[in-house]
Amino acid sequence: MSTVEDELKGYQGQARAKLSEWKVRVWSDVQLTNDAGSVFEGVILPRSGNFDDLHIVIKMKNGYNIGIHVDRVTKIKEIGYKKAVYKIPEKEFPQSPDLPSVTLLGTGGTIASRLDYRTGAVIPAFTPGELYGAVPELADICNLKTEKLFGVFSENMAREQYLILAEKIGQEIEAGVDGIVIGHGTDTMGHTAAVLSFMVQNSPIPIVTVGSQRSSDRPSSDAALNLIHAVRAAAYGDIAEVQICMFGPTSDRYGLIHRATRCRKMHSSYRSAFRTIGDTPLGVVSADRFEYLTDDYLPRDPKRQVKIDARYDDRVTILYYYPGMDPDLIDAIVEKGYRGIVIAGTGLGHVNKPIYPALAKAVAQGVHVVMTVQTLWGYAQMYVYDTGRDLLDLGVVPLDNMLPETAFMKLCWVLGHTDDHDQVLKMMRDPVNHEITDREPHNGYLILQGGLPETEEYVSSHWK
Ligand code: ASP
Repeated sequence: MSTVEDELKGYQGQARAKLSEWKVRVWSDVQLTNDAGSVFEGVILPRSGNFDDLHIVIKMKNGYNIGIHVDRVTKIKEIGYKKAVYKIPEKEFPQSPDLPSVTLLGTGGTIASRLDYRTGAVIPAFTPGELYGAVPELADICNLKTEKLFGVFSENMAREQYLILAEKIGQEIEAGVDGIVIGHGTDTMGHTAAVLSFMVQNSPIPIVTVGSQRSSDRPSSDAALNLIHAVRAAAYGDIAEVQICMFGPTSDRYGLIHRATRCRKMHSSYRSAFRTIGDTPLGVVSADRFEYLTDDYLPRDPKRQVKIDARYDDRVTILYYYPGMDPDLIDAIVEKGYRGIVIAGTGLGHVNKPIYPALAKAVAQGVHVVMTVQTLWGYAQMYVYDTGRDLLDLGVVPLDNMLPETAFMKLCWVLGHTDDHDQVLKMMRDPVNHEITDREPHNGYLILQGGLPETEEYVSSHWK
């Protein structure tokens, strides 16, 4: 018989300790009592690597799963045990000599998870065999190799993961793959894609990040289609930049390819959550079509030598300005040793007068302070109002139309190279990959993204 320890697989840290303490395991039928005296009856479910170590998950008799925080558990009693076997059917991914080779690097997120119908547990699905079992179309597109680098929800991505990812991409390119796909949680996919644009320069091949808003067990899931589009963009697309490939419209007609430095998650739950800001998307991809919306991109060129520049200093923060902000906040950031502050200012790039002295002090101490705009669209233009001019005089540097998160990731990357103020500012203002552009396209505002022509169509059908 397996030991209790064997049966705790998937549980870590405090949740694992709690289960051990009460000598129960995954698949135990239990009565769990919490600190309010409520008793929950059900089966302890396995946990996937994507979850925290503070919750025990029970499938209750009514079919619902509930996660109970370990601190609230006062007693767990085993009343039965029946091991369940769960597994996604694996099929061997076929290899075909005529097809391009793509490497899928997994970092976690919803796209790497699926629900097991019977138990309701969220389990990771990531081996090539599992993916092929779930999305057989992939085998018609390419020869796919998969590697799970991490299994985290994307809010847990940070310095260490970015560095590993960039190095790994370099190795895959050296090994000669035709395209790379990075499976990622959608929440911070924009951040990761942006920093990879700085860490991986001159790529010969497409590097496509992809996620899903809804896990693959749900009928409305975008996981399979996003994956198919992303794998096509990696295998056959001509854009050798870091890009984001996600649902275009709310329907599943096509996916949009976005430039990493200009893209943002703009909705918490729509499948069409990702939008190019201040520009048009790079392209449209569907099951049988590519449409490039610009020719201003780095084209695929297998002979190009990639440059991996994986450096990152995370002593940087974003200050999202709000009316009445207190200067103490800036003093505290500086005292704590932060080296860079990205301000997301109001309008054309403003903050209130009372924080000017604190900003001046920060700059005098060598902290690099840059300005972006909360409006997301448009440019920081600090010479328009005298308040903006004052900030320029204090040494706050405008970053034109660089998105706040892109500016944050770039400042971390730049500070990984130098702390010399002039150097830092020069690197920040020198675009690596379109993070600052000369102008927004005249019709770029939400074009093809719920804006024109969709908006006109909507308005004319409702306003007759
Ligand atoms: N919270 C998840 C993540 O970013 C959401 C997703 O994957 O879409 O990891």
